[in-house]
Amino acid sequence: MSKNNIIARGFGGDWNIDYIEQLIEDYQDSKAVESYYLCNLSDVMRKFDDWVKKLPRVKPFYAVKCNDDIGVLKTLSEIGCSFDCASASEILELKALEVESDRIIFANTTKMSSHIEVAKNNNVNLMTFDNEDELEKIKKIHSKANLILRIRYSSEKALYKLGNKFGCLPNTEASELLKLAKKFNLNVVGLSFHIGSSCEDYETYGAAIKVCRKLFDVAETIGFKFNILDIGGGFPGNNFEKIDEFASKINEYLDENFPIQEFLDLKIFSEPGRYFVESAFTLVTQIHSRKVNKDSNGVIHDVMYYLNEGVYSNFLFVPLGPEIVQPQIVKRLRSKEKYKTTIWGPTCDSTDKVCEDIEIELMNIDDVLYFLNMGAYTIPLRTPFNNLGTTKVKYFINFNDW
Ligand code: PLP
Repeated sequence: MSKNNIIARGFGGDWNIDYIEQLIEDYQDSKAVESYYLCNLSDVMRKFDDWVKKLPRVKPFYAVKCNDDIGVLKTLSEIGCSFDCASASEILELKALEVESDRIIFANTTKMSSHIEVAKNNNVNLMTFDNEDELEKIKKIHSKANLILRIRYSSEKALYKLGNKFGCLPNTEASELLKLAKKFNLNVVGLSFHIGSSCEDYETYGAAIKVCRKLFDVAETIGFKFNILDIGGGFPGNNFEKIDEFASKINEYLDENFPIQEFLDLKIFSEPGRYFVESAFTLVTQIHSRKVNKDSNGVIHDVMYYLNEGVYSNFLFVPLGPEIVQPQIVKRLRSKEKYKTTIWGPTCDSTDKVCEDIEIELMNIDDVLYFLNMGAYTIPLRTPFNNLGTTKVKYFINFNDW
């Protein structure tokens, strides 16, 4: 069996809370002591199908950085998705899966020289930039690359903002960079932007697309005929219905600014990360220790649980952003009485706190807590702190998708 093979268990019917809890009970019988993921690969496949149907002009390049789990990469590569890589290792991961180089965009505006070399040696010829020094580097290492200029256009409403680090100013810096690229004899083929991650401020996509349309004209005056528009990532991934709203808006903005009859050769790309994977992963954890704090009358004031998972492993996104995680409790342990609760991770660090001031039932040592929508920016962010090991992924796929 090749190292790229994954084993998935088939299921019929719906992937819902009842089925997830049945799986948890099954695995609990075997006294699991480590956390693990339940991954529904059919969820990833359905997201891809939905995208292709609902955004027919926009080709998705899955952002590998969001979750480079082998099951996800293999599934997406086999159903024909393209990929956005941020590093040489990500490129090599995909090459090991025999993904063709023209299905890869190196979408990191500030790349290490050695990584540009890996891209060149693997015929990855499409890459982004947003500054003069990067152009110098690309000129030296990969002068035949096709370049995409990333402009800064961020939404204040995004949960994770990227604008202070990436992108050039569209009104001033963009034209200067295009002139320099011309002087260097480099080939700039289009524009990209990323409005920020986890963002439901769809109007900002509209405003950014409008600015790009103007810059297409500016580029032409400098001698470039653009044929790529890359609208980045940011799309929500925790709810299937949301695509209807963002797809209809984005289709409208594209048709308004880049009418299909006028832009027959235009390729429209996107770099969704969390959209594809967020809802496919459920993290199953276990309480290994507990501290019940009581007042002087012996009445429970609050409860602290210590999980086999924390912010140095799959919850690293918790201290990085504003998201609040909510544990789920299997039905048979649910009750009316709830207590103020703090959940700690397993390491010896007091910042290893998963959540606090939530109200949940009184749980016991060895009880399971599970967390839904854990597929985005979890697995690749784990650290080796306290050497707690990796998190196994158990794959599932609907019989109809086999
Ligand atoms: N593209 C680039 C260049 C990014 O930096 C990111 C996230 O940081 C993504 C795509 C994926 O974004 P999201 O997961 O919000 O779709």
